[in-house]
Amino acid sequence: MSVRKVFADALERAANGRELSREDLQVLLGADEQESTSLFELADEVRSRFVGEEVHLRGLIEFSNYCTGNCLYCGLRKNNRSLVRYRMSPEEIMESARRAADLGCRTIVLQSGEDRYYTAEDLAELISRMKGELDVAITISIGDRTRTEYELLKEAGADRYLLKFETSDPRLFSALRPGTTLEERLKRIAWLKELGYQVGSGNIVGLPGQSLEILVGDILLLRRLGVEMAGIGPFIPADGTPLERFPPGDLEQVLMTLALVRLVLPRAHLPATTATATLDSQGRLRALKCGANVIMPNMTPQSYRENYRIYPGKLGIGEMPEESYAKAVKMVESAGRRVSRDYGHGYRVREALKTGSGIS
Ligand code: SF4
Repeated sequence: MSVRKVFADALERAANGRELSREDLQVLLGADEQESTSLFELADEVRSRFVGEEVHLRGLIEFSNYCTGNCLYCGLRKNNRSLVRYRMSPEEIMESARRAADLGCRTIVLQSGEDRYYTAEDLAELISRMKGELDVAITISIGDRTRTEYELLKEAGADRYLLKFETSDPRLFSALRPGTTLEERLKRIAWLKELGYQVGSGNIVGLPGQSLEILVGDILLLRRLGVEMAGIGPFIPADGTPLERFPPGDLEQVLMTLALVRLVLPRAHLPATTATATLDSQGRLRALKCGANVIMPNMTPQSYRENYRIYPGKLGIGEMPEESYAKAVKMVESAGRRVSRDYGHGYRVREALKTGSGIS
C-alpha cells in the first residue's frame, strides 16, 4: 500500500471518530505538506463540533521566576545565574488579577517556577481572596508540591491545575529534569485528579533526544490521562542553559501534534501557545485553525515580564496587559471566532453543570 493510501485510511478513521492507534498516529504525524492540510482541516472541524467557535482568554500572571528545578531546557533553571530574579507580592498579584478580570478574563492562571518561598497557606489565602473578590476561575501552575498542599489550594477555591509531563519517555524525562522522574510526575497528576481539579498537562515538541515514537507516546499519554487541557509547545533553546545550541522545534510538527491531540481529546481545551508565536509570528493564528481554542494573554506587569524568560524572544515582553489582551481579541476575531465570556471550564464540569449533578 502506498504511503498516501495509509495516510488517507488513518485520516478516515479519525474523521469517523474511531480511536487512533499508535500506528495511525505515527503515519499522521509523518504527514507531508499536502497531507497535513487535510489533517489541520479535520482538527478544525472536530474543534468546531466539540468545543465550538468560542476562544477562552486566560489571564496569565507569572508571579515568581525563582525555581529550585534545574531542567536543561528552561531559562528559569536555578543554575542560570544570568537571570534577574523577582517575586511579586500578594498585593501586586491581586492587582494584576483585578486588571485581568476588568479586561474580561474569566480565568486567572497563577504561574511560577518551583518556588517554595510562597507556602501553600500563603497561596491558599491569595486564592480565597481572589475568588471572593473577583468573578473568575483559577488555574494554578507552580509545579511539584505535596498532596496535602494541592489539597489546601483546592479547598481554597482553585479550579484547575496545570502540570505538564513534557515528555512521555522516562529516560528522556530524567535526563532533562535532573533529580525527578516521570513516575513521580504522573503520580502528582493522579493526585490532582483525585482531588477534583480540572487537570491540564502537555509536552514539548522538538526536544533534543525526542524521536517520532516518543512524540506519539506523548499524544497517547495525554489520551490515557484524559486531561481536560493540553499545552503543546515547541522546544526553544534558551540562553544560559545546557541546550542553548540545539535547534528549535519545528512549527509544522508542533501544529501536527496539536491537531492530533484535538483528534484524540476532542473536548479538551487546547491553547495556541505564546511559544508557538515565538517560532513564527503567524504561529498562534495557525494553531487556532488546527485545533486550539484558548489563548493566554500575559497579564504580568510589564516591569517583570522580561525576566520570566523560560526561552528567549518571547512575544509581548514590552507590552502592557491591556495591549496583550487587545492583541489576543484581535487574533480571535481575525480567525473568524469569538471571545468566550464564560469560565471555560473543562468538559466534566461543563457536563455536570448542564445536568445539575453538583460539581462546581
Ligand atoms: S521547567 Fe519548571 S521546574 Fe524546570 S527549571 Fe523551568 S520553571 Fe523550573
